[in-house]
Amino acid sequence: MSLERTLTIIKPDGVEQGNIGDIIQVLEKNHFKIKAAKMLQLTNSAAGGFYAVHRERSFFNDLVRYMSSGPVLILVLEAENAVSRLRDLMGATDPRKAAEGTIRKRFATSIEKNVIHGSDSAENAKIEIGYFFNALELV
Ligand code: ADP
Ligand code: MG
Repeated sequence: MSLERTLTIIKPDGVEQGNIGDIIQVLEKNHFKIKAAKMLQLTNSAAGGFYAVHRERSFFNDLVRYMSSGPVLILVLEAENAVSRLRDLMGATDPRKAAEGTIRKRFATSIEKNVIHGSDSAENAKIEIGYFFNALELV
């Protein structure tokens, strides 16, 4: 076990649907500590930069449009094994394949509009946290 940080984004659909409170409740009940929080609307280029690893994928342009379509809530979370535990709580990318009780199963409406992002490795978590937050913004 190791104390780890990860980055989560409550995506525009999650904010618009009013799922912020429900999602934070799941995170806090599962012993994630919120170390930083920022609400903003991503520009196209900020969303594209964040998802640059997907730039060759067929869904990239739609993904950028979706992620910049409304405000998002970006959180840095800290917990034991935060990266994999958050991914478990989120559920599969496609909500039809997500396990019962997961955040995506409960709130997501499609493989694109799946309400939440979570870093996929500790290494990427560091990069993603640095993309949105400087050291002074982490408590
Ligand atoms: P995850 O968010 O589960 O790590 P990916 O990193 O593979 O998934 O994809 C990033 C985001 O791109 C997804 O969360 C989803 O919003 C969108 N996405 C992924 N695959 C598709 C797809 N086949 N069609 C449309 N959008 C997709
Ligand atoms: Mg991913």
